[in-house]
Amino acid sequence: MEEETELILDKYRSAGRILAEVREEAVERIKEGVALLEVAEFVENSIREKGAQPAFPCNISRNEEAAHATPSIDDKSVFGKDIVKLDIGAHIDGYIGDSAVTVDLSGNNEGLVKASEAALSEAIKIIRDGVSTVEIGEVIENTIREQGYKPVVNLTGHGLIRYNSHAPPTIPNVKYEHGVILRENNVIAIEPFATDAQGAGKVVESGNAEIYSLLKAKPVRLREAKKLLEEIKKYQGLPFAKRWLPRERLDLALRTLKNTGALRDYPVLREEGKGLIAQAEHTVIVKEDGCEVTTAAFKLD
Ligand code: MN
Ligand code: MN
Repeated sequence: MEEETELILDKYRSAGRILAEVREEAVERIKEGVALLEVAEFVENSIREKGAQPAFPCNISRNEEAAHATPSIDDKSVFGKDIVKLDIGAHIDGYIGDSAVTVDLSGNNEGLVKASEAALSEAIKIIRDGVSTVEIGEVIENTIREQGYKPVVNLTGHGLIRYNSHAPPTIPNVKYEHGVILRENNVIAIEPFATDAQGAGKVVESGNAEIYSLLKAKPVRLREAKKLLEEIKKYQGLPFAKRWLPRERLDLALRTLKNTGALRDYPVLREEGKGLIAQAEHTVIVKEDGCEVTTAAFKLD
């Protein structure tokens, strides 16, 4: 293997190892009565202290929320008897680890959580050079359905490339027609989402966004918008949180940049039928005879 490839893969491995440590420590902090903001800041600061950078804001989505929820700067909300998805990312030099875990504080959704975990575990077992994303989607869907739950059809895993947390190929959570063949050293995130009998098996956007990313810098006149644009260039296109930004006329500056087409926003994604959602996610490097999980804290079964 070319030396450069190994150096790059080592950055993915280091980012993944840091992320796994932070994930395990963060899970211990998710308890009834604890503030969501405290956990989000713990995650993001810990990633920095360990020598990486957040690849995107710490996502803490609860109950029928599936993704893209992160606390606002003055968020006072605390965990209740929630089913909590903690989805976090770290990068080193743009090479990303992306991982999620579900913590069930309700105490009675163990089956749902297990369904998403089993789907992830079964998918990882079949990943190797030459596997089709069609096969992966099929294994995920079958595993979730066998356990009596529904896969979420419009949320998917994805490729990871430098400074891109959502690169092709799409890794579906259901069997579908047209796939892509995975090759050795592709880096991909697998993230099955499962919902219960009440769920539609589909998510929809709702509410205001707390997460944004820079699509393309466009000229703006407003002084605060100009300053904000310079500020967010440092994320190199990766998603950032509104609470990370300077507060001076922030809403106006964000709206101005959004209107020029410079920003993408990420509204919270909720289950359309208000079903509860569980998610499990790991980042893997595809290998000739299998795959290497970069974000595993310990060996998967
Ligand atoms: Mn993720
Ligand atoms: Mn992901």
